[in-house]
Amino acid sequence: MKVNKHLLDDVEFVKSPNTGGDLKPDSIIIHYTAGRDAESSIRTLVNPKVKASAHLVVGRDNSVTQLVPFNVVAWHAGKSSLGGRTGFNQFSIGIEIDNAGVLTRQGNVYSSWFGRAYQEKDVLRAVHRNETVRKYWHRYTEEQITLVQEICAALIEAYDIDAIWGHEEISPGRKIDPGPAFPLDKMRQRLLLGHRDEDDAEPIAFPAPGIVTAGKLNIRSGPTAQASKVAQPLLQGANVTIKQQSKDWYRVRAEVEGWVSGHYIELKD
Ligand SMILES: [Zn+2]
Repeated sequence: MKVNKHLLDDVEFVKSPNTGGDLKPDSIIIHYTAGRDAESSIRTLVNPKVKASAHLVVGRDNSVTQLVPFNVVAWHAGKSSLGGRTGFNQFSIGIEIDNAGVLTRQGNVYSSWFGRAYQEKDVLRAVHRNETVRKYWHRYTEEQITLVQEICAALIEAYDIDAIWGHEEISPGRKIDPGPAFPLDKMRQRLLLGHRDEDDAEPIAFPAPGIVTAGKLNIRSGPTAQASKVAQPLLQGANVTIKQQSKDWYRVRAEVEGWVSGHYIELKD
Protein backbone atom coordinates (compact mmCIF):
# COMPACT_ATOMS: atom_id res chain seq x y z
CA MET A 1 0.00 0.00 0.00
CA LYS A 2 1.30 3.43 -0.97
CA VAL A 3 -0.12 6.94 -1.21
CA ASN A 4 0.52 8.74 -4.50
CA LYS A 5 -0.79 12.27 -5.10
CA HIS A 6 -3.25 11.91 -2.19
CA LEU A 7 -4.71 8.66 -3.56
CA LEU A 8 -3.99 5.07 -2.58
CA ASP A 9 -2.17 3.31 -5.39
CA ASP A 10 -4.03 0.51 -7.21
CA VAL A 11 -7.36 1.33 -5.59
CA GLU A 12 -10.58 2.13 -7.41
CA PHE A 13 -11.59 5.81 -7.18
CA VAL A 14 -15.29 6.73 -7.19
CA LYS A 15 -15.60 10.47 -6.68
CA SER A 16 -17.92 11.72 -3.96
CA PRO A 17 -19.30 15.26 -4.29
CA ASN A 18 -19.76 15.42 -0.51
CA THR A 19 -16.56 17.26 0.37
CA GLY A 20 -15.30 20.37 2.13
CA GLY A 21 -12.13 22.40 1.72
CA ASP A 22 -8.45 21.56 1.90
CA LEU A 23 -7.33 18.91 4.37
CA LYS A 24 -3.96 18.49 6.07
CA PRO A 25 -4.67 15.24 7.92
CA ASP A 26 -3.15 14.54 11.33
CA SER A 27 -5.58 11.83 12.49
CA ILE A 28 -7.38 8.76 11.14
CA ILE A 29 -10.97 7.97 12.17
CA ILE A 30 -12.18 4.36 11.92
CA HIS A 31 -15.87 3.68 11.20
CA TYR A 32 -18.17 0.82 10.31
CA THR A 33 -20.79 1.30 7.64
CA ALA A 34 -23.67 -0.52 9.39
CA GLY A 35 -24.71 -1.27 5.82
CA ARG A 36 -25.64 -4.23 3.63
CA ASP A 37 -22.42 -4.34 1.62
CA ALA A 38 -19.61 -2.07 0.42
CA GLU A 39 -21.40 -1.29 -2.87
CA SER A 40 -24.54 0.02 -1.19
CA SER A 41 -22.44 2.07 1.27
CA ILE A 42 -20.44 3.58 -1.61
CA ARG A 43 -23.67 4.48 -3.42
CA THR A 44 -24.88 6.26 -0.29
CA LEU A 45 -21.62 8.11 0.29
CA VAL A 46 -21.45 9.48 -3.27
CA ASN A 47 -25.11 10.59 -3.25
CA PRO A 48 -25.15 14.41 -3.04
CA LYS A 49 -28.45 14.31 -1.11
CA VAL A 50 -26.91 12.30 1.71
CA LYS A 51 -24.33 14.91 2.80
CA ALA A 52 -21.97 12.21 4.06
CA SER A 53 -18.76 10.71 2.69
CA ALA A 54 -15.48 9.08 3.72
CA HIS A 55 -12.06 8.88 2.16
CA LEU A 56 -12.10 5.08 1.91
CA VAL A 57 -14.52 2.16 2.03
CA VAL A 58 -13.04 -1.25 2.86
CA GLY A 59 -15.16 -4.22 1.73
CA ARG A 60 -15.26 -7.63 3.37
CA ASP A 61 -13.01 -9.37 0.83
CA ASN A 62 -9.99 -7.23 0.02
CA SER A 63 -11.78 -4.47 -1.88
CA VAL A 64 -10.83 -0.87 -1.17
CA THR A 65 -12.54 2.11 -2.82
CA GLN A 66 -11.43 5.70 -2.42
CA LEU A 67 -14.13 8.39 -2.60
CA VAL A 68 -12.26 11.55 -1.61
CA PRO A 69 -8.54 12.43 -2.04
CA PHE A 70 -6.65 12.65 1.27
CA ASN A 71 -6.01 16.40 0.85
CA VAL A 72 -9.75 17.19 0.72
CA VAL A 73 -12.15 17.21 3.68
CA ALA A 74 -14.69 14.34 3.72
CA TRP A 75 -17.87 14.32 5.83
CA HIS A 76 -17.56 11.26 8.08
CA ALA A 77 -17.12 12.44 11.67
CA GLY A 78 -20.04 14.85 12.17
CA LYS A 79 -20.32 16.47 15.59
CA SER A 80 -17.17 15.33 17.35
CA SER A 81 -14.76 16.43 20.05
CA LEU A 82 -11.77 15.06 21.92
CA GLY A 83 -8.81 16.56 23.77
CA GLY A 84 -10.05 20.12 23.32
CA ARG A 85 -10.54 19.79 19.55
CA THR A 86 -13.88 19.71 17.77
CA GLY A 87 -15.07 19.01 14.22
CA PHE A 88 -12.72 16.15 13.33
CA ASN A 89 -13.62 16.29 9.62
CA GLN A 90 -11.30 19.29 9.41
CA PHE A 91 -8.14 17.32 10.22
CA SER A 92 -8.84 13.62 9.79
CA ILE A 93 -9.00 10.87 7.19
CA GLY A 94 -12.15 8.73 7.50
CA ILE A 95 -12.07 4.99 6.79
CA GLU A 96 -15.43 3.18 6.56
CA ILE A 97 -15.34 -0.61 6.97
CA ASP A 98 -18.19 -2.79 5.67
CA ASN A 99 -19.71 -4.29 8.82
CA ALA A 100 -23.33 -4.65 9.97
CA GLY A 101 -22.57 -3.35 13.46
CA VAL A 102 -24.55 -4.38 16.51
CA LEU A 103 -26.77 -7.46 16.06
CA THR A 104 -29.82 -8.66 17.97
CA ARG A 105 -30.21 -12.28 19.00
CA GLN A 106 -33.36 -14.36 18.86
CA GLY A 107 -32.60 -17.97 19.73
CA ASN A 108 -29.73 -18.95 17.48
CA VAL A 109 -30.36 -16.24 14.94
CA TYR A 110 -28.41 -12.99 14.97
CA SER A 111 -29.89 -10.18 12.87
CA SER A 112 -28.80 -6.75 11.76
CA TRP A 113 -30.99 -3.67 11.88
CA PHE A 114 -31.74 -4.22 8.17
CA GLY A 115 -32.95 -7.76 8.77
CA ARG A 116 -30.10 -9.95 7.54
CA ALA A 117 -29.27 -13.07 9.59
CA TYR A 118 -25.69 -13.92 10.57
CA GLN A 119 -24.10 -17.18 11.68
CA GLU A 120 -22.60 -17.54 15.13
CA LYS A 121 -19.05 -17.71 13.70
CA ASP A 122 -19.49 -14.14 12.40
CA VAL A 123 -20.64 -12.81 15.76
CA LEU A 124 -18.62 -11.50 18.71
CA ARG A 125 -20.21 -11.08 22.13
CA ALA A 126 -18.48 -8.19 23.88
CA VAL A 127 -18.90 -5.04 25.95
CA HIS A 128 -18.41 -1.78 24.06
CA ARG A 129 -15.83 0.61 25.55
CA ASN A 130 -18.57 3.23 26.16
CA GLU A 131 -21.15 0.79 27.55
CA THR A 132 -21.55 -1.70 30.42
CA VAL A 133 -23.59 -4.57 28.96
CA ARG A 134 -22.51 -7.24 26.52
CA LYS A 135 -23.97 -7.07 23.03
CA TYR A 136 -23.57 -9.00 19.81
CA TRP A 137 -21.31 -7.51 17.14
CA HIS A 138 -20.71 -8.46 13.52
CA ARG A 139 -17.10 -9.60 13.21
CA TYR A 140 -14.73 -7.97 10.73
CA THR A 141 -12.96 -10.26 8.28
CA GLU A 142 -9.27 -11.07 8.56
CA GLU A 143 -8.75 -9.24 5.23
CA GLN A 144 -10.40 -6.09 6.55
CA ILE A 145 -8.32 -5.92 9.71
CA THR A 146 -5.07 -6.58 7.85
CA LEU A 147 -5.92 -4.16 5.04
CA VAL A 148 -6.94 -1.35 7.39
CA GLN A 149 -3.67 -1.81 9.25
CA GLU A 150 -1.72 -1.67 5.97
CA ILE A 151 -3.66 1.42 4.85
CA CYS A 152 -3.03 3.19 8.17
CA ALA A 153 0.69 2.37 7.91
CA ALA A 154 0.77 3.90 4.40
CA LEU A 155 -1.08 7.01 5.61
CA ILE A 156 1.30 7.42 8.57
CA GLU A 157 4.18 7.27 6.12
CA ALA A 158 2.63 9.85 3.78
CA TYR A 159 1.25 12.36 6.32
CA ASP A 160 1.98 13.69 9.82
CA ILE A 161 -0.53 11.35 11.45
CA ASP A 162 -0.23 11.08 15.22
CA ALA A 163 -3.60 9.62 16.21
CA ILE A 164 -6.02 6.87 15.19
CA TRP A 165 -9.45 7.15 16.81
CA GLY A 166 -12.69 5.23 16.59
CA HIS A 167 -15.77 7.29 15.77
CA GLU A 168 -17.10 6.04 19.15
CA GLU A 169 -14.24 7.93 20.86
CA ILE A 170 -14.72 11.31 19.20
CA SER A 171 -18.56 11.16 19.25
CA PRO A 172 -19.33 9.11 22.40
CA GLY A 173 -23.03 8.78 23.22
CA ARG A 174 -23.88 9.44 19.58
CA LYS A 175 -21.75 6.80 17.82
CA ILE A 176 -20.67 3.24 18.63
CA ASP A 177 -18.55 2.41 15.56
CA PRO A 178 -16.19 0.65 14.94
CA GLY A 179 -17.18 -1.23 18.15
CA PRO A 180 -15.38 -3.97 20.11
CA ALA A 181 -14.99 -6.33 17.13
CA PHE A 182 -12.35 -4.00 15.69
CA PRO A 183 -8.88 -4.28 17.33
CA LEU A 184 -8.42 -0.52 17.60
CA ASP A 185 -6.22 -0.40 20.71
CA LYS A 186 -3.90 -3.10 19.37
CA MET A 187 -3.63 -1.41 16.01
CA ARG A 188 -2.68 2.00 17.31
CA GLN A 189 -0.18 0.49 19.73
CA ARG A 190 1.49 -1.27 16.84
CA LEU A 191 1.33 1.60 14.37
CA LEU A 192 1.83 4.67 16.56
CA LEU A 193 3.90 3.35 19.46
CA GLY A 194 5.71 0.58 17.63
CA HIS A 195 4.61 -1.96 20.24
CA ARG A 196 4.15 -5.60 19.48
CA ASP A 197 1.59 -7.54 21.51
CA GLU A 198 2.95 -8.42 24.94
CA ASP A 199 2.46 -12.11 24.23
CA ASP A 200 4.82 -12.12 21.28
CA ALA A 201 7.49 -10.00 22.92
CA GLU A 202 9.77 -13.01 23.16
CA PRO A 203 11.56 -13.98 19.98
CA ILE A 204 10.26 -17.16 18.40
CA ALA A 205 12.59 -20.11 18.02
CA PHE A 206 11.75 -21.55 14.60
CA PRO A 207 10.27 -23.96 13.85
CA ALA A 208 7.58 -23.37 16.51
CA PRO A 209 4.23 -25.12 16.92
CA GLY A 210 1.15 -22.86 16.65
CA ILE A 211 -2.61 -23.09 16.61
CA VAL A 212 -5.14 -21.18 14.48
CA THR A 213 -7.44 -18.93 16.56
CA ALA A 214 -9.57 -17.42 13.77
CA GLY A 215 -12.67 -19.23 12.50
CA LYS A 216 -11.08 -19.34 9.06
CA LEU A 217 -7.56 -18.20 8.26
CA ASN A 218 -6.41 -17.58 4.71
CA ILE A 219 -3.05 -18.97 3.73
CA ARG A 220 -1.25 -16.86 1.18
CA SER A 221 1.74 -16.88 -1.16
CA GLY A 222 3.37 -13.91 0.59
CA PRO A 223 3.27 -11.83 3.80
CA THR A 224 0.50 -9.40 2.73
CA ALA A 225 -3.30 -9.53 2.52
CA GLN A 226 -3.01 -8.87 -1.21
CA ALA A 227 -0.98 -12.02 -1.91
CA SER A 228 -2.92 -14.83 -3.58
CA LYS A 229 -4.49 -17.60 -1.51
CA VAL A 230 -2.56 -20.85 -1.92
CA ALA A 231 -5.11 -23.29 -0.44
CA GLN A 232 -8.44 -23.60 1.33
CA PRO A 233 -8.41 -21.52 4.54
CA LEU A 234 -7.08 -23.10 7.73
CA LEU A 235 -9.80 -23.76 10.28
CA GLN A 236 -9.90 -22.80 13.94
CA GLY A 237 -7.89 -25.20 16.09
CA ALA A 238 -5.69 -26.37 13.21
CA ASN A 239 -2.11 -27.12 14.18
CA VAL A 240 0.62 -25.45 12.18
CA THR A 241 4.38 -25.21 12.28
CA ILE A 242 5.64 -21.60 12.27
CA LYS A 243 8.80 -21.48 10.16
CA GLN A 244 9.50 -17.80 9.59
CA GLN A 245 8.21 -14.34 10.52
CA SER A 246 7.91 -11.14 8.48
CA LYS A 247 6.49 -8.28 10.58
CA ASP A 248 2.95 -9.42 11.44
CA TRP A 249 2.99 -12.48 9.22
CA TYR A 250 4.08 -16.04 9.88
CA ARG A 251 5.10 -18.51 7.22
CA VAL A 252 3.51 -21.69 8.42
CA ARG A 253 3.34 -25.27 7.28
CA ALA A 254 0.09 -27.15 7.64
CA GLU A 255 -0.77 -29.50 4.79
CA VAL A 256 0.47 -26.77 2.49
CA GLU A 257 2.91 -23.97 3.18
CA GLY A 258 2.22 -20.25 2.92
CA TRP A 259 1.84 -16.97 4.78
CA VAL A 260 -0.87 -16.15 7.35
CA SER A 261 -1.63 -13.10 9.46
CA GLY A 262 0.19 -13.55 12.79
CA HIS A 263 -2.78 -12.01 14.64
CA TYR A 264 -4.61 -15.31 14.32
CA ILE A 265 -1.91 -17.74 15.39
CA GLU A 266 -1.35 -18.49 19.04
CA LEU A 267 1.99 -19.96 20.01
CA LYS A 268 1.84 -23.28 21.84
CA ASP A 269 4.18 -23.95 24.77
ZN1 LIG B 1 -18.82 6.48 11.99
